Amino acid sequence: MRLRNIPGSEEKILAHPYAFQTDGAVPGEYKGLWNRNVFKTTKKLYVEIGMGKGQFITQMAMLHPEINYIGIEKYSSVLVRALDKFDREPLENLRFLRMDAEDILEFFDQGEISGIYLNFSDPWPKDRHAKRRLTSLPFLKRYERVLEHGGELQFKTDNRPLFDFSLKELDKAGWKLLDFTYDLHKDGPAPGNVMTEYEEKFFKLGNPICRFRAVSL
Ligand code: SAM
Repeated sequence: MRLRNIPGSEEKILAHPYAFQTDGAVPGEYKGLWNRNVFKTTKKLYVEIGMGKGQFITQMAMLHPEINYIGIEKYSSVLVRALDKFDREPLENLRFLRMDAEDILEFFDQGEISGIYLNFSDPWPKDRHAKRRLTSLPFLKRYERVLEHGGELQFKTDNRPLFDFSLKELDKAGWKLLDFTYDLHKDGPAPGNVMTEYEEKFFKLGNPICRFRAVSL
């Protein structure tokens, strides 16, 4: 994701009733309370970590009004693009959280999340940066805590080395692989799949898209 500083993005997030940010948040302010205090419903909660400009999570929220969604993004200049889209077409079951994935345990309670989407996460190709990959063991351990029993992690990428690394990390962490493919769209756009911005771009370039779905045991 090319980062361009967008002036006023932090202020827009701070003032927006559907966006939350972790800087300055009181510890425990949202943890365990997303459904009760923020959505004011008891629907299942799904999150996308590293949502970018929010195409995927916005479309998922439109398709599934019976589910609550939170789009998580580290950078305000990126998150604000999703908010602009949201303002043109607001959705009651969608919120945005500016947060570093590393802090997920401070903002979500044990078993609070029913599913996590990781789409085209940054590959961090150097070995010494492996722990920063969002599918590395330390992150899987965090996801295990916040996911409900049987809650799913879904990962899509066109980066085969990152995908192979992620499969090994799942194994190390003792997760159960539900299914995986090295070429999700080999027979044309996969039915029922919602494409992310990066996915659309790489699909048009003819890059095979890998996907797995897994649950922690
Ligand atoms: N998911 C989108 C898609 O598929 O089109 C965007 C993919 S983009 C390559 C990766 C996104 O993850 C970027 O917007 C980046 O800022 C965000 N990101 C990277 N590390 C993150 C972290 N530790 N916590 C939250 N977001 C992160």
